[in-house]
Amino acid sequence: MTGSATPGQAPDLFDAETQTLLAARTAHAACTHPGQDACGQALGDLVLAYERLLRETRRLVRRSDRAELEMTRMNAQLQELAAELEHRANHDPLTGVLNRAAIIELVNRHFGREDLALVVLDIDHFKRINDSFGHPMGDQVILGVVACLQAVVPPTAHVGRVGGEEFTVVLPQQDASASHRVAEALRQAIESHPFDLPDGSGVTASFGVCWAPAGSDFDSAYGLADEALYVAKRGGRNQVRVSATALQPFEHVV
Ligand code: GH3
Ligand code: MG
Ligand code: MG
Repeated sequence: MTGSATPGQAPDLFDAETQTLLAARTAHAACTHPGQDACGQALGDLVLAYERLLRETRRLVRRSDRAELEMTRMNAQLQELAAELEHRANHDPLTGVLNRAAIIELVNRHFGREDLALVVLDIDHFKRINDSFGHPMGDQVILGVVACLQAVVPPTAHVGRVGGEEFTVVLPQQDASASHRVAEALRQAIESHPFDLPDGSGVTASFGVCWAPAGSDFDSAYGLADEALYVAKRGGRNQVRVSATALQPFEHVV
């Protein structure tokens, strides 16, 4: 027996020790009177003790391997949980889009380096939908609106739910007039979306848009977009209004 590993098998960690033990066993067996001479007796005891030591060491190594595997598994599980927690902290549980805190953080971070447009929208007469058809139908409408937003916004945009039936779309790299066009496309997408309400009625939303240069912050930009949204509501709903501040070079002044 050579003790070397067969192909496909991990090499034995204690190969050298096993060889030594085998040699000692052979030497002990070759003793003429192993039970009577002191040397043979000592060699026999040593072989037994060494066998025990080797068995115990193998057991400890197996246990340590299992502990290492378990630690690797737990570490992967911990990383999954951390990612899930992070996702939950930043996303709205109903729609899966960014929540208010995450949108604020994202907008302020982007303003640190670039201009931004904010589109704020609010579903029109949403209370009527809840009151007439129940809260679950209201939730379905919210999901439908988010689907419209996600289908229309450019790839660089970020969508967030900042209130019950109020959303913000963050548009980097878009000037005020491009943002106005995006908001108008969103308005039309919602207006023409089949929400399948029991009374056959449709759903609309009102929009406020604001463009602000790098260095601005969420509160001031959102405030302007929200004012424009209020004007859209007052103007009859289902329409887009752009903040006068953002629209200086354009014609759709609130
Ligand atoms: P307006 O056109 O002026 O925006 O009128 P509105 O009815 O949409 O606005 P209002 O603020 O009166 O009603 C908003 C309603 O949205 C009240 C609240 O119960 C409901 N709401 C908020 N969050 C949720 C939600 O997660 N699910 C459902 N189904 N309803 C919600
Ligand atoms: Mg509202
Ligand atoms: Mg509303």
